[in-house]
Amino acid sequence: MNNLNTDQQNLDAILTEVKQQGIDYLNHIHERPTASNREVKLIRDLSGQGSGSIEALKQFNQRFEPIMVASSGPRYWGFVTGGTTPAAIAGDWLSTIYDQNTQSAKGNGDVSAIIELETIQLLLSLLNLPEDFFGGFVTGATLSNFTCLAVARQWIGKQSGKDFAREGISGTVKVLSATPHSSAIKSLSMLGLGSGNFIQVNVMQGNREALDIADLELKIQALNGEPFILISSAGTVNTVDFDDFESISTLKEKYNFWWHIDAAFGGFAACSPKYNHLVKGWEHADSITVDCHKWLNVPYESAVFLVKEKHQLLQVETFQNSNAAYLGNPMENFSYLNFLPENSRRLKALPAWFTLTSYGKQGYQEIVESNVEVALQFAGFINENPNFELLAPVRLNTVCFSLTDESLVATFLNKLNAGGKVFMTPTFYNGRKGIRAAFVNWRTSAADIELATAVMLEILTEL
Ligand SMILES: *Cc1c(COP(=O)(O)O)cnc(C)c1O
Repeated sequence: MNNLNTDQQNLDAILTEVKQQGIDYLNHIHERPTASNREVKLIRDLSGQGSGSIEALKQFNQRFEPIMVASSGPRYWGFVTGGTTPAAIAGDWLSTIYDQNTQSAKGNGDVSAIIELETIQLLLSLLNLPEDFFGGFVTGATLSNFTCLAVARQWIGKQSGKDFAREGISGTVKVLSATPHSSAIKSLSMLGLGSGNFIQVNVMQGNREALDIADLELKIQALNGEPFILISSAGTVNTVDFDDFESISTLKEKYNFWWHIDAAFGGFAACSPKYNHLVKGWEHADSITVDCHKWLNVPYESAVFLVKEKHQLLQVETFQNSNAAYLGNPMENFSYLNFLPENSRRLKALPAWFTLTSYGKQGYQEIVESNVEVALQFAGFINENPNFELLAPVRLNTVCFSLTDESLVATFLNKLNAGGKVFMTPTFYNGRKGIRAAFVNWRTSAADIELATAVMLEILTEL
């Protein structure tokens, strides 16, 4: 009997082992190191018979499992790394079990697209956004920025009667931004708009990353009525600064532009009455990027694009998967593959559906507020210790700081990360070498801050 047949008969044993291993991992994630320096030797030859799942699991456990770092644990503060809620894990497992190819909401008995459409509605409700956004799931905020900016590109062409999707781009597309995320710039490059083509808008005075509205208006006027794309930020990665969306809304009434907001993690400010003023006015944007594998705490790869419904035709022109020009209402024979980059795709929405349904608005308000609280606790420690200094005020969930003796930053961070108790990432802000700690994991508690700061004090004595 071959291994596939044996596995089929052993399904119960295989999944039980994996389940138990998953429970052990998650129950001990607080103790698991956040870094590893062990190396693995790659195997290059595939065996003839294979080993069957139980043996494959043994091999995985021997070679790879011990060096898996606790990136979804409570003290992994590098980049903007979310965790996974129990409900999200359950939904993710079921996505795999049911293995749907999520496309059309009608016909083919395909309920998975309906789940995706419903999840988008739940997310709009969580974020207090109006229902006139159409949305879908992609792998991350990078692909979401790409999707939104692709529709923006089509919109720009239409302003002078061109169909860029069919004809290719002609001329230079003007893009304005103050502190765009690197992935938005990467998207400009992938879209043929040119990463070097964006026009830098000044940031506001006083240690800010938000765009200066007066300078934005000057740069708009310099375009002499030429339509353009504005990429604005709801949460920059260094200092979590937000552009002024109410003022941008006012400019949008005066000037002709596509307004995109990268709200990858900052959009979750909308979940809390304490912080939702930061996104006031964002509902007027043409498109918004929201990551789910960050503050929604679902497993990778999960993000949504939100594009105003009135632009649906532009979106279909951009992504339609057929040579025939699209005729009629794109929602009539709705299929996701005509709205986004991928064709075949897994049921990405299910983990998000599970976690939203399980914890509701209050659950996410609590996650957001407790993450901001630990960020402030950590910033308090930085402020009080003369060896450290904050590089920017804590506006939401990220602490951007440095050592007073900047020449020690790299050594300090290397020692800190190598210790495996906490993980942070280096940055460069305002001409200064710095360190970022971002809090978007539901598990992080005051005790984690205490543990990490104790380690930091110890390292100071070794420098
Ligand atoms: C993380 C992030 C991105 C890129 O997201 P991925 O999910 O890594 O593709 C884009 N914009 C902002 C503001 C981010 O924080």
